[in-house]
Amino acid sequence: MEVVPDYNNDPIYSKIKPKLLNSYWTAFQASAAEYDIDLSSIEDVSFVSQDLSGSTAGIANGSCENYVLILVDETQFRNLTTGEQIFLMYHELGHDVFNASHDGGGLMAPNVRSIEYTLFQKEVRDFFTGEDYVEWTEEECEYIRDLTNKKGLNCHRNGSLRD
Ligand SMILES: [Zn+2]
Repeated sequence: MEVVPDYNNDPIYSKIKPKLLNSYWTAFQASAAEYDIDLSSIEDVSFVSQDLSGSTAGIANGSCENYVLILVDETQFRNLTTGEQIFLMYHELGHDVFNASHDGGGLMAPNVRSIEYTLFQKEVRDFFTGEDYVEWTEEECEYIRDLTNKKGLNCHRNGSLRD
C-alpha cells in the first residue's frame, strides 16, 4: 500500500513533540540541512512559554538580534492544528534565525495558515533556497529592535488571523 506523505509520517515533522518546544528547533535545523544550510553553530536558541495577550500563539523576539527567542502561549498553541503549529514555529524561526521579513511571502507571509503538507513542503523549499526570502532592511531592523525591547514581533495569532 502506498503511503501518502503528510505531517504525521514525514521523517522530520513526525519527531516533533508539541509539548517540547525545542523539538521545533531540531526539526527546523533538519529541514535546513536538506538544503545544505548548516544551523548547528547557532546555540543561543530559547523558547519561552508565557501568557501572550489576546489570541496570540507565538512571538519572534530575536529578529534582527544575534539570538533566537521565541515566545509561545501554549494555551493558544495547543488549539492549533499540527500543520498550523509547524507553520507558526517555522515562520517565527525564519524571523529570528534569518532575519526574514514578511515581504518574502510564502512561509513568511504574515498570517498563520493551515496548509496542506505538500504545499507546506514547497514553501519550506522556497524559503531555504532563497526564492521566497527577503531580509528586513536596516531601517526595519531598527524599528523591530525598538519593538522587541518592549514586546516582540507579534505577527501571529491562531485560527483565521490575517494581520
Ligand atoms: Zn511574522
